[in-house]
Amino acid sequence: MIDVLAVNCGSSTIKFRLVRVPAPGGDDREMMLASGTVETVGRSGRAVFFSAGNTSVDRPVEVADHADGLERVLDWLGSVDGGYSIDAVGHRIVHGGDLAGPLLIDGRIEKAISESAPLAPLHNPPALAAIRATRRRLGRRIPMSASFDTSFHLALPEHARRYALPVELADAHQIRRYGFHGLAHRWMTERAAELMPARVDQTKLITLQLGNGCSMAAVAGGRSIDTSMGATPLEGLIMGTRCGDLDPAVPAMIARKERSSLDEVDRLLNHRSGLLGLSGRSNDVRQLLDAEANGDDRAALAIDAFCYRACKYVGAYLAALGGADALVFGGGIGENQPIIRKRICEGLQWFGITLDDGRNEAAVAVEAEISVNATAPAAYVVPVDEMSLIIRDTVSLVA
Ligand code: ADP
Repeated sequence: MIDVLAVNCGSSTIKFRLVRVPAPGGDDREMMLASGTVETVGRSGRAVFFSAGNTSVDRPVEVADHADGLERVLDWLGSVDGGYSIDAVGHRIVHGGDLAGPLLIDGRIEKAISESAPLAPLHNPPALAAIRATRRRLGRRIPMSASFDTSFHLALPEHARRYALPVELADAHQIRRYGFHGLAHRWMTERAAELMPARVDQTKLITLQLGNGCSMAAVAGGRSIDTSMGATPLEGLIMGTRCGDLDPAVPAMIARKERSSLDEVDRLLNHRSGLLGLSGRSNDVRQLLDAEANGDDRAALAIDAFCYRACKYVGAYLAALGGADALVFGGGIGENQPIIRKRICEGLQWFGITLDDGRNEAAVAVEAEISVNATAPAAYVVPVDEMSLIIRDTVSLVA
């Protein structure tokens, strides 16, 4: 039996889950001991923690940085319910460069994560800070593992991972399609195969991770062969505040016309575009659907464009895969918004993809098949549980 802590650092959040994992072969079941979130690290935020002993915390906090936030999580875990001991820690790492994972973190891996930081400036430095804070507090004897979001897409064939840039230049600066949300796509792949049921290595799936950040993957035999995010998480689908695909001439055009710096254009494309930019109202699909119902044309345009882009990618990935067994919807929107799933799939009936209205409406935050019986490709909803994968990865490495 080991107690494993999973840590998932976002750009301004820390999520954690502490789980007691039984020894293999025994009758005991896995038990959640504690979980929680620290929000808006670096500013005034909230700490929301729960423990199996029913102690909960929900209070405003001032957290200086991710190291500080993680120290508070460890302080709390050391004090609540008599204090938990932690046997191993798993970290989610957004950018692992060329590393296949999961891997136990040693000096070499830490250096590699640090070297990939310029490719994921909002995510890798917080994760590194969390790794170092954990080691300072728990000591070197507690093993730590890294689960990389990029690993799932590492086997992307050369023709899908390369941009049509001069090869020497692209290689000199490591500019290629890495792909992200790998843990989510991996989870959806494994769970969908289980639900079908089918052997993962015999499936062809199109996974749609639709949250604030959105990406899709074409997955053949459990391996990603194409994915919509690229060198950074800006490419591909329309997202909450990110534009997704764009004519590459547009950033320079905006910079010239608006007399803005490239950094300012970068911020515009990442933080003021997408659903927010199109609607001029919100990055949140719930608010946009309400506004659309009240006659707001720009909210309607934002949702139409969002669904059209996703539908177009499904068409592309059906071609890339040579047909698919199923679409799999996950993420805040994919799991909770039947109307968005319906609007994406309306453009796909030509391929035989037909949702069952009743099943689709009923499938909110639960695993379910939502297509009409025996249609191919089928469609599933799979709530994504990245924390479970991190815990499983950690156990597989330390066992
Ligand atoms: P992130 O990518 O930051 O983890 P989420 O996966 O929570 O974000 O996705 C945020 C989007 O999902 C928002 O557009 C929101 O409207 C939608 N969403 C999240 N939770 C729900 C819910 N319970 N019901 C309906 N929509 C939801």
